[in-house]
Amino acid sequence: MELQKKDIRKLTLPELEEFFLEQGEKKFRAKQVYEWLWNKSLKNFDEMSNISLSTREMLKTHFSINHIRVDLMQHSSDGTIKNAVKLFDDKIVESVLIPTTKRITACISSQVGCSLDCNFCATARLKRMRNLNSDEIYDQVVAIKDEAETYFQRPLTNIVFMGMGEPLLNFIPVIESAKIMKEQLAYGLSRKRITISTSGITPQIDQLHNEVDVSLAISLHAPTNELRDEIVPINKKYPISELMKSCYNYLNFYAGKRSITIEYVLIDGVNDSEELAIKLAKLLSKISCKINLIPFNPFDGSSYKRSSNRNIETFKNVLIKKGFITTLRVTRGDAVDGACGQLVGRLTKSIKGKKLISHQSIS
Ligand code: SAH
Repeated sequence: MELQKKDIRKLTLPELEEFFLEQGEKKFRAKQVYEWLWNKSLKNFDEMSNISLSTREMLKTHFSINHIRVDLMQHSSDGTIKNAVKLFDDKIVESVLIPTTKRITACISSQVGCSLDCNFCATARLKRMRNLNSDEIYDQVVAIKDEAETYFQRPLTNIVFMGMGEPLLNFIPVIESAKIMKEQLAYGLSRKRITISTSGITPQIDQLHNEVDVSLAISLHAPTNELRDEIVPINKKYPISELMKSCYNYLNFYAGKRSITIEYVLIDGVNDSEELAIKLAKLLSKISCKINLIPFNPFDGSSYKRSSNRNIETFKNVLIKKGFITTLRVTRGDAVDGACGQLVGRLTKSIKGKKLISHQSIS
């Protein structure tokens, strides 16, 4: 029976207010309920302490509160926490909490598996099974917010859509969840603190600014079509020239007040030569951007290797000399396969040789 009820979190605040008025309730009660749901992340109506018993009973007859469950939590020695999140249909996605001195970042998934087939990414081996809905995306943030407070006594500060999946191929739910993250009644995070990362789905990049104002990261990884076709195959559909055009469009829309993060995984002998660094600098010369170099994270079954420190330094220095703000991402969560590109849902199976510290359910 419970499953047939509508999930109350499918309603926007105005819809919830309308429902309350239809039921002969006061409009402001809807706002209170909304805050319980989105800011306090309550999972049942009985805990809504400022809502009368009769109103709670009325809500229970109409609605359910669907939610995900953190099935398994792994702590890495560097503080990173990886969650295996079980969805209502028992599918598993992963999300990661990454603490640094200044920030606590939630890296969240938007799809079960991924359809893109980037050949340096472990998630690609899962293929895409389904899209997440907006609640499932948002709930990963809720779980990580609670973990940040429990384990680090600090609030969650940033959200990156860099877990499993291609966010822009699950456009509407990703947009909806990002809107809620920004809402004052939920977390009120500013657009600077929410980053959508894409491997370059240009039609959706062009639409993004019409839907929600968030930061944009592009997983570029190669400055030529020849190489990018090979390592990021979606490039065959949306080649570099189109991708650059979409970056211009995004930046133009914000009248030069924004910059894009360019992600570039450094793979030994594949895309890490000095010559490619020079080509990359040329390609990006008219794009307001910050370049984030990511040393390749190895995973079982991949023949790629991380670039040598010398190559990484040379690559980085070329870009810095050309005037780009260039950062090197410190690998986090390696010990629990929670680093970029290592999310494969292997927690559904046995986790050999990994240190499991706790299980936790947020249900
Ligand atoms: N599909 C989206 C978001 C998921 S990937 C995108 O492509 O942007 C998040 C980031 O991790 C991307 O930049 C991705 O290219 C990078 N990544 C994937 N596999 C990696 C690996 N093995 N080592 C390092 N970074 C990786």
